[in-house]
Amino acid sequence: MLVLRNLIGHDRPSPASTIPIIDPARGTIIARCPDSSARDVDDAVSAAAGAFEAWASAPAAHRARLLCRLADLIDRDAERLAHLESLNTGKPISLARAVDIPRSSDNLRFFAGAVLHDHTEAFETTGATRAGMQGAAALNIVLRRPRGVAGLISPWNLPLYLLTWKLAPAIATGNTAVCKPSEVTPMTADALAGLVVEAGFPDGVINIVLGRGEPAGSALVSHPDVPAISFTGSTRVGQWIAQHAGAMLKRVSLELGGKNPFVIFDDADIASAARTLCRAAFTNQGQICLCASRALVHRSVYQRVLDELLPLARELTARRGASAIDPQDDACAFGTLTSSGHADKVQGLIDEAVRGGAAVHLGGERRGCFVPPTILSGLSPASAIEQTEVFGPVLSVSPFDDDDHAVRLATATPYGLAATIFTSSLARAHSIPARLRHGIVWVNTWMSRDLRTPFGGHRHSGVGREGGAEALKFFTEPTNVCIAVDQPRPR
Ligand code: NAD
Repeated sequence: MLVLRNLIGHDRPSPASTIPIIDPARGTIIARCPDSSARDVDDAVSAAAGAFEAWASAPAAHRARLLCRLADLIDRDAERLAHLESLNTGKPISLARAVDIPRSSDNLRFFAGAVLHDHTEAFETTGATRAGMQGAAALNIVLRRPRGVAGLISPWNLPLYLLTWKLAPAIATGNTAVCKPSEVTPMTADALAGLVVEAGFPDGVINIVLGRGEPAGSALVSHPDVPAISFTGSTRVGQWIAQHAGAMLKRVSLELGGKNPFVIFDDADIASAARTLCRAAFTNQGQICLCASRALVHRSVYQRVLDELLPLARELTARRGASAIDPQDDACAFGTLTSSGHADKVQGLIDEAVRGGAAVHLGGERRGCFVPPTILSGLSPASAIEQTEVFGPVLSVSPFDDDDHAVRLATATPYGLAATIFTSSLARAHSIPARLRHGIVWVNTWMSRDLRTPFGGHRHSGVGREGGAEALKFFTEPTNVCIAVDQPRPR
């Protein structure tokens, strides 16, 4: 049996105790993962703290070179990593090949480049006299220094992709890191640990502690030598982290859940909207925080949208039949949910919706970890399934009557991560996003990502932003240096 290992400094110690890692498609144990303790986290933090000064003062070009080397190794091992990701998560291997793994190396190269092209802010103060006080002319220069040991906690839906999305900016800006990936999907984090050593990162710069949220994740959050926590996961755990890390005055970035609306206006290209909606609802079996879970459709095109959508959604599983889902098969377009516990939760919400009178247009019944694409209608906006993040292949479809009604429904949950609108009206493309309360609004597209843009949610979907300059800021602490100059410069 494969036993995964932590990376602490350059050591890969044998775990004292382990938890089983399951292939959700077959229900078999594929590996055992360290069930790390608070002591293991402490060892990793010590290794990271010991490496900090040297790494923080290394030239940015050196840090960038090592990140690019790690990216090259990920590309070299792309097929092995895609296989591990698919085996552990139940996602189609084609998706892991096309998205998860290439995006992981892209993350590393993007932030390697970003720190080489970053600049320092400066403010020239010309001096002022106010209430008898002479203000000196000065030059202000903003220095940004890495914070220290960054705690990086990531979820199970896009394991390597989201781990590297945090790791790259943390390391590029000169922090050292302790990563705590999800205990459900640690296979590619274990593989990454080997690549980190092979890439030649100094001992202690990147540490990976595998294990459960409690005790390993919570020990990282509470550790006094970890001043910054970057977390992606559920709103419930994010709230706990906000309380505990907040009380210690740590810097916290929280990327949390969503309940994302997909709004189709009557002037939209309906065929294109339905194709995109099918992708938005069912990619990765609906287990992406950006997936659409509520389709809001103008009443005049409601039936047309359903008529276009249903065959597309049916087609996702038609070729194989539900009984023979094999995510490792090149032809698989729709895999399984990532754990049986999660499938229980998703099925429970579907059942509750059906008991509450929802019409089931497609799907609705799981087999093991396989939950088919499920399309429901007739739900009240206040029902549990319309208010709770399902994080599975479940889409509700509801009609609206006018723009105000669409905006009201789109914003009728506590979440505000991503919204999509389909319209051919330029006026709507400008006015509707400004009225929504979501961190990302796509117009006539979905999941189109530019790594320079701010990424994150409003309200219960999170605090802070990742991506581009936002991430560079999060992982650095500014010091404003004010240098007096003798003479005010003439303007
Ligand atoms: P989760 O909150 O259960 O776990 C996320 C991570 O936190 C895991 O590594 C887990 O071990 C750890 N953890 C759990 N309890 C902890 C604690 N007390 N202290 C510290 N760490 C702890 O989330 P999940 O089920 O792994 O992932 C699914 C959730 O992630 C969904 O809600 C989804 O929307 C969200 N998500 C959000 C984004 C985003 O960018 N906004 C992206 C992907 C997933």
